[in-house]
Amino acid sequence: MQLIFMGPPGAGKGTQAQLLAALWKIPHISTGDILRACVVAKTDLGQKAQSYMDRGELVPDELLMDIVQERMNQPDARAGWILDGFPRTVAQAAFFDKLLCDVEGSTSGKDCALRAVNLDVPDNVLVARLLSRGRQDDNEETIRRRLQVYREQTEPLIDFYSGRQQLVAVDGDRAMELVTAELQQVLSGDS
Ligand code: ADP
Repeated sequence: MQLIFMGPPGAGKGTQAQLLAALWKIPHISTGDILRACVVAKTDLGQKAQSYMDRGELVPDELLMDIVQERMNQPDARAGWILDGFPRTVAQAAFFDKLLCDVEGSTSGKDCALRAVNLDVPDNVLVARLLSRGRQDDNEETIRRRLQVYREQTEPLIDFYSGRQQLVAVDGDRAMELVTAELQQVLSGDS
């Protein structure tokens, strides 16, 4: 199982990714969680990342590439994974294709078992969800910026993966259990 969870902030990626990873006994790798842990631990990386995160901007690609490369090389990532919050730019996706080739020996990201799940949720629902969540970066101004950044920089990945027949689109504007059930149904069985 090699899954990328995409979707705007507040779409429910983290919740669904965590549930399914536990069910399938594979690691849930959230770049947002990794970055927040670095901020709390005040590592070099955390200090570099914090101002971007507080403003709702993306952290520079190079920092993310290092994080993901290191995490994907851990032994528990061999059996599969759910990647939540990465890739978020076309440059990250291209890097990730290359990384998968190196880790797996396949000739290209196109050839792997990789699938990209997109959770679709309308903007008004996203804003309401994020405001009620109340994380440090969940104030109205930052939320608007994160949504804008998502549309500009991350949404193009939908075409990127759909052009390779790797996209799984799911309506995320429903009860959590219904979304989980649909994901389980479409993702298991043919992996
Ligand atoms: P959400 O999807 O709810 O906005 P995340 O926890 O996935 O939250 O990410 C929080 C923040 O961490 C982002 O706004 C961004 O600043 C940073 N971040 C996480 N993943 C990436 C990534 N792949 N590339 C750049 N920045 C990232």
